[in-house]
Amino acid sequence: MNAFPSQRPEKRLRIATATLGGCFGCHMSLLDIDERILELAKIADFDRSPFTDIKHCGPSDIGLIEGGVTNSENVHVLREFRANCRTLIAVGACAINGGLPAQRNPIDIGDLLREVYCERVDENPQIPSDPELPLLLDKVYPIHEIVRVDYAIPGCPPSADALWKFLTDLIGGRTPRLDYAHFRFD
Ligand code: SF4
Repeated sequence: MNAFPSQRPEKRLRIATATLGGCFGCHMSLLDIDERILELAKIADFDRSPFTDIKHCGPSDIGLIEGGVTNSENVHVLREFRANCRTLIAVGACAINGGLPAQRNPIDIGDLLREVYCERVDENPQIPSDPELPLLLDKVYPIHEIVRVDYAIPGCPPSADALWKFLTDLIGGRTPRLDYAHFRFD
């Protein structure tokens, strides 16, 4: 069965994905679409993604972002995605509201760094300060507080069926619609 009957094979789509402050669980769900990825491969190529070795996001039709914004590199990656992706989708609880990493938000960032790098180590306690390291933000931000977001797919992680339903709706030109049964918070 052709999952994308209205998509002309000669007009291939470009899909980019990225993980910011997340655990890759949302990407694992995307891989869980299993053999349906072959249907996707008939009509789309992957741009920057953990599935490719492309370092920067090029012009893409769809950008899927997992994870919240925890540091300066996340901001850079997210802004590059927004500038290059026609449709930007927040995937999962971390991208939508900060998720689990945002549990650090009530704690002062200085106290947090001291606790982790100074008070919980026996040898050479010091807070890393190499200029190569991305600067940690004062808290974890949902991606919509940094850039405009077109859609959000809830879940932790969203199920493979939810991701597939969303993508087939979107690519098929329908308003993406998920049923209650699609929602999953593991
Ligand atoms: S939403 Fe859940 S599965 Fe996705 S990155 Fe966050 S913690 Fe991981």
